[in-house]
Amino acid sequence: MDKYTLSNFQKEFPDDAACLEWLKNYRWPDGIFCQNCGKVTKHHLMTTRRSYSCQECGNHVHPTAGTIFHKSPTPLTIWFYAVYQMAQTRGGISAKQIQRETGVSYKTAWRICNLIRRMLDEDHDPFSGEVELDETYVGGKAHGKSGRCAENKTPVFGAVKRKRKLKAVAVPNTKSKTILPIVEKTIEKGTQIYTDEYLVYDRLTRMGYNHSRILHSHNIYVIGNVHTNTIEGFWSLCKNGIRGVFHSVSPKFLQADLNEYAFR
Ligand SMILES: [Zn+2]
Repeated sequence: MDKYTLSNFQKEFPDDAACLEWLKNYRWPDGIFCQNCGKVTKHHLMTTRRSYSCQECGNHVHPTAGTIFHKSPTPLTIWFYAVYQMAQTRGGISAKQIQRETGVSYKTAWRICNLIRRMLDEDHDPFSGEVELDETYVGGKAHGKSGRCAENKTPVFGAVKRKRKLKAVAVPNTKSKTILPIVEKTIEKGTQIYTDEYLVYDRLTRMGYNHSRILHSHNIYVIGNVHTNTIEGFWSLCKNGIRGVFHSVSPKFLQADLNEYAFR
């Protein structure tokens, strides 16, 4: 794959509608499941409210809900540009540069940089409170394929403490004997953990954690307090950054890249 350049970025995200459409497709790749209608229905864009409305019942969904963009008066194009720059620039990007290049105030630029950085923040105490677990696959040549059986891809396991810190490691596989020791080492017993329906996580309750599941296969991403938007947002940033900076990623270099994204 060719380098993902600024002009590629600008072509993909020319305006807020394009950014919103990207978020929508990212969160609901198989269409939006309307909670009211109890099925996947056609939804229409409501640009002024950053939402999509169900064609059958008029119910609104907000693709930015649960993300750092939510309720921000700053255009999504500027947010996306800052994320793009942070993923592209090896040394990160300064608030001054965002201010200069986008025309927002220094205060806004600082807040944007801070929120994106905080999303990727990390420290070394064991995680506690509310934590999300997820796995993903990056690199390799099998483009367009995802999921746990994707070929030529390196599995990566991640834990995110809601809004605070993140740990991502390249792993040989996503079996329970690989994943669960990392969980025990990283997360304090008694912590509330959110995962998807992957079977490996069945043992978390017996291991002494409070465990809740999110049913991604039904496109139900938010059930009260139960969601994995935080960690999925990180995967998406990480993948786009890696896609943008390198032609392809070899497993040997992947952990170093993950550290850079996680610790930046
Ligand atoms: Zn509906």
